[in-house]
Amino acid sequence: MTTYEISLLVGDGIGPELSLCAAEILQYIHDKSARIKFKITRVEAGDNAKQKYGNALPIDTFEEIKKSQACLKSPVGESAADVVLVLRRYFDLYANVRPSKNYANVPSISKNVDLVTVRENTEDLYLGWEFLSDDDTVISLRKISRNASKRIAEHAFKIANSRKGKKVTIVHKSNVLRLSDRMFIDTSKEVSKRFPNIEFEEMYVDACSMELIRYPNRFDTILTTNLFGDIISDEAAQVTGSIGLAPAANIGDNFAMFEPVHGAAFDIAGKNIANPTSFILAIKMMFDWLGEKYHDNDILELSINFEKSIDELFTKNVKTKDIGGSLSTLEFNQKFLNILNDKGFS
Ligand code: ATP
Repeated sequence: MTTYEISLLVGDGIGPELSLCAAEILQYIHDKSARIKFKITRVEAGDNAKQKYGNALPIDTFEEIKKSQACLKSPVGESAADVVLVLRRYFDLYANVRPSKNYANVPSISKNVDLVTVRENTEDLYLGWEFLSDDDTVISLRKISRNASKRIAEHAFKIANSRKGKKVTIVHKSNVLRLSDRMFIDTSKEVSKRFPNIEFEEMYVDACSMELIRYPNRFDTILTTNLFGDIISDEAAQVTGSIGLAPAANIGDNFAMFEPVHGAAFDIAGKNIANPTSFILAIKMMFDWLGEKYHDNDILELSINFEKSIDELFTKNVKTKDIGGSLSTLEFNQKFLNILNDKGFS
């Protein structure tokens, strides 16, 4: 029997509703499975926490996350940068991995797409190095380093190696960003030599944005820098259906944090209509990471059942309103647990 210590960050907007679903799922597995157990610590961060404690990332939250083996993070509102960027930086979560795929009966402009965006998570314009050179001019600095480029490229090629598509598309803007993106490409090319079985292609980010709409099936693993990856992965999520389906992993060498791609979605908060699939699939990504890190086949098997359960629900047209169904957040979560239960627990 293995007990995993998970910090569950309750954020803002639809965050509390989604984290309730996540807690329900983990508790259900804990109760049903003989081999997989969880110790869940609920922590607060974001706008609500800032109002309550005067700090978007209270020290108690930070300490609890540090004690856990992985963090499940629900979306936070305006203070996102004070939470997400700090956690990514502190734990050196350098790989942001965002899968997007088509599901049966989910309305979308594409078919048979199954791709993953691997985004460098620690550098680029996200360092926030901005200053006024005079009252009317702002200078923003962009950092790209060989080390960070190398480790994200290695991560992307390993992911591509585990997928059917066996292809990496490096997305950049080296015709304008001649030094920084040139370094990113050259380093990735060097890494690609160690993976001769993986097809490797380059694409400008503007062309990629267009191709994602015109011919999304051509992509398997997209490797890119921080800002381009942020934008491209939202586009990929929408191309395959809804942002309410898109999970993300922030992975470092010793710690990882899993979250929905979307934000706090204040327009639908408190209405019990948010799609919890993004969070369910974020839990699935966490199981993949824990399974690999701790060589735990039981949790890897559970991860496969998560994916199968979502596939089956959509095939049977069991859906929330955002993708053409009629179920509420909590109803969909319950249907998910029922179908997961049918598959049994080890
Ligand atoms: P951010 O700027 O942090 O990305 P945002 O609130 O501007 O946050 P998102 O929350 O990412 O934007 O989402 C945009 C819209 O997509 C929301 O306004 C909401 O209508 C819809 N949406 C987002 N997440 C979900 C979800 N889980 N289920 C249903 N609809 C969602």
